[in-house]
Amino acid sequence: MRPVRFNINPIQANTKDSLAMVEAPEGYSGEGFFATKLSDVVGLARKNSLWPLPFATSCCGIEFMATMASHYDLARFGSERVGFSPRQCDLLMVMGTIAKKMAPVLRQVYLQMAEPRWVIAVGACASSGGIFDTYSVLQGIDQVIPVDVYVPGCPPRPEAILDGFMKVQDLVGQESLRRRNSEQYTALLETYGIQ
Ligand code: SF4
Repeated sequence: MRPVRFNINPIQANTKDSLAMVEAPEGYSGEGFFATKLSDVVGLARKNSLWPLPFATSCCGIEFMATMASHYDLARFGSERVGFSPRQCDLLMVMGTIAKKMAPVLRQVYLQMAEPRWVIAVGACASSGGIFDTYSVLQGIDQVIPVDVYVPGCPPRPEAILDGFMKVQDLVGQESLRRRNSEQYTALLETYGIQ
């Protein structure tokens, strides 16, 4: 009977000894140090661990499903964990037509999110009302909450959603730790009636 062999080229006994390790350059080994800013380190951690809250009301939400699925895989950006509790999430992704009746709900969800929080308006409807220039549709979510990034398209392809997501990551990574306590940010929220 033919013997089963998984490795037809058996490892030579002296292979390990014959591999030479490259020495680290001087100054790159030992305890060492590096210089950076605290805000950069915090920004790096935040941008690669965003927890999205999908607020999907219509067709753009289907594109988001594709963005989360295996082919596009938003998890590659550290956002595997999609949350449906505003208190746990820091990235509100609004996808779809927002009726005026829905606007207070969207605002309530935003208010329940803890700072720091970011918002993406995905698609024409969330950004501007889209084709629904009617009495019943909110003409852009930035009428009720501040928006950080707008993703164009009707619907935007998953690549566009990923691009918008990476734009938010850039903002998050570069944001000063003092921004949320700044006068400008307070003034921005006050224009929305948020204390
Ligand atoms: S932007 Fe287009 S695809 Fe997206 S929710 Fe509006 S109508 Fe649907």
